[in-house]
Amino acid sequence: MVLTIGVDIGGTKIAAGVVDENGEILRMLRQPSPARDSESVVDTVVNLVGSLKKDHEVEAIGVGAAGFVNTGRGRVIFAPNLAWRDEPLGDRLEEATSLPVVVENDANAAAWGEFRFGAAREFNSAAVITVGTGIGGGIIIDGQLRRGTAGFAGEIGHINMVSDGLPCGCGQRGCWEVYSSGGALLRAAREIARTDRERATLLLDLASGDPEAITGLMVTQAAQAGCSGAVDAFREIAHWLGQGMADLGAILDPEVFVLAGGVSEAGHVLLEPAREAYEQKLTAVEYREVAPVVLASLGNDAGIIGAADLAAQR
Ligand SMILES: [Zn+2]
Repeated sequence: MVLTIGVDIGGTKIAAGVVDENGEILRMLRQPSPARDSESVVDTVVNLVGSLKKDHEVEAIGVGAAGFVNTGRGRVIFAPNLAWRDEPLGDRLEEATSLPVVVENDANAAAWGEFRFGAAREFNSAAVITVGTGIGGGIIIDGQLRRGTAGFAGEIGHINMVSDGLPCGCGQRGCWEVYSSGGALLRAAREIARTDRERATLLLDLASGDPEAITGLMVTQAAQAGCSGAVDAFREIAHWLGQGMADLGAILDPEVFVLAGGVSEAGHVLLEPAREAYEQKLTAVEYREVAPVVLASLGNDAGIIGAADLAAQR
């Protein structure tokens, strides 16, 4: 049985696990992300790998890192949340651990995990859309992860959705993730709570009457309990989610869409209106097989499992 280690480097925590060929995590360790400098991140990963190696014989390490990753060169080119610029992460980890290292964008790694062992395992082509603070994604066509020329493919959160729209963290305006993400959900819910208190009674109860105190979890709870203001906030981001999926459908024609990430954990209150909007916007809908839209099944483990499998297949 081939064992590899999958590592997920996020903005707030680093998780690493020993994973077998069936995508099962045998052991997992977590640590908060240290200071944002790359050296302490590398040190933390090396420590985690060292602890995991004690009890398991592993062949390679796969790392998913938030940012623009050139997989072929094992370098993180640009990681806004970690302040990394053209960081040779692969080389440094190989040197420190004496194991082969594969570096991948974190959303790509998570998408690969869902494709191999999760919600898309029965399919040959998938578009995995991670809806969290922003929108990330991974595109698998004909069984292959599509990385593009420099490894920057699948940055779908920055598809332009609204011409000269709201500003995005990337420096552009009107990006998809500004209209369909956790941040967009909060904006919509707070706006409804401010202007139409009647429709948002339950939501406001949860937030002790203060629209600004509304959290994502509250919107989900209220929507699942039928609060029409919260349901409408989900409908609003689902509208844009469906629009973006229709665009991706026109370009990629995937067999399945997988919705992943924190916001997707809300379940049907997001899934149903997103599916509806997607079918309304999809081109030539009456002449094609409409790809199903399903929820991810591996949760937060997808990145570790995907990165480990990419290392196993290196
Ligand atoms: Zn953007």
